[in-house]
Amino acid sequence: MKSIARLLLALAALAATHQIMAAGNPVPAKGYALFSSDGSFQPYEFKRHAVGEHDVLIETLYAGICHSDIHHVHEDWGPSHYPLVPGHEIVGRITQVGEGVTKFKVGDYAGVGCMVNSCGECDYCKKGLEQFCEKGAVFTYGSPDKYHGNVITQGGYSNNIVLSEDFAIKVPADAPIEKVAPLFCAGITTYSPLKATKVTKGDKVAVAGFGGLGHMAVQYAIEMGAEVTVFDITEVKRQDALEMGAVKYVNVRTPEELKGLKDSFRVIISTIPANYDPGMYVNMLQMGGELVIVGIPANDERPSIDIGSLVFMSQRKVSGSLIGGIPETQEMLDYSVAQNIYPEVEVIPVDQIDEAYRKVLDGEVKFRYVIDMRTMD
Ligand code: NDP
Ligand code: ZN
Repeated sequence: MKSIARLLLALAALAATHQIMAAGNPVPAKGYALFSSDGSFQPYEFKRHAVGEHDVLIETLYAGICHSDIHHVHEDWGPSHYPLVPGHEIVGRITQVGEGVTKFKVGDYAGVGCMVNSCGECDYCKKGLEQFCEKGAVFTYGSPDKYHGNVITQGGYSNNIVLSEDFAIKVPADAPIEKVAPLFCAGITTYSPLKATKVTKGDKVAVAGFGGLGHMAVQYAIEMGAEVTVFDITEVKRQDALEMGAVKYVNVRTPEELKGLKDSFRVIISTIPANYDPGMYVNMLQMGGELVIVGIPANDERPSIDIGSLVFMSQRKVSGSLIGGIPETQEMLDYSVAQNIYPEVEVIPVDQIDEAYRKVLDGEVKFRYVIDMRTMD
């Protein structure tokens, strides 16, 4: 009897930590993967975990190419797991729901961003800040899924994805679906710090790095009533920034354009993915202003900041921001749909992913590549 009781206790403990594999069969999946950091994308067949009681199966329609995908596959931030199917800007249609699912039904549209699960019980999860889960959020790809046998997750450059309904975002059927995908990373990552810094009418806001994230930041900040200045390193995006409603465009490679900007901005969002001088932006903050860093350069070209000059720039703050939690991601999606704010996208077939990566690195993309996953054989 004692041993049966011990067995039951052990099973209960396992269930409590969500270690039990979902019942049902694993779901076959096809994607595009890299097999090494210097390889090219190849078709790859793999299996996703079974659709559990509270899970949904989504047929992927579109997947955005985020610069983070490129950092990952090039191992800019440390070793990656291969084969690696990137993609954390996903939109698709629900094709199966677990019996306990209440948020979705088959046929609904849904989005997936950078996370697919978390403990749901810690203080951060309870506050809707799942990206900071004390037990570690399960990220959409390249992340050991502690709730499914520590299998490494695979992302959205694939024909489907299975995840907890709690991490799927509701998308209205009449939204422009191919433009919705990038909102789940580029959108939330810029919306969140603009909300956190309470950007409002009349604020002077700057956006450094006018790419996938940057052009979303510009649109949100303008919608919130701010007067927006854009910083980038090229001339080819000057007209785009002004047409989007920016009051000023600064090419940081033209030093004269940087003159007279000291003490100018209440909020600066930096999306820059490469080495740069953050101190230059701190100098441009008003007293009480804040530089929020969201761009994450490679480990070997990550800038630092001179703490001595920060002392002399008293009351200017420097902070960072990591994507956004699930409730705020739904809020961002609803806001974007209501205000008609979407990324400018170029839809590509799966056989152009390698070329698209090269173009992002060469600054040739305006502003987000989105892969049509139905172009996969
Ligand atoms: P993009 O490549 O689309 O955009 C980056 C932009 O920055 C480009 O317009 C680029 O110019 C410009 N740029 C490069 N160097 C400079 C510089 N020195 N000064 C000003 N502008 C510069 O990348 P994404 O928008 O997709 O991603 C940006 C960064 O954000 C990446 O590091 C990514 O990993 C990170 N990220 C962070 C997240 C978070 O949660 N904090 C979430 C998602 C992404 P050009 O095109 O001419 O090269
Ligand atoms: Zn991203």
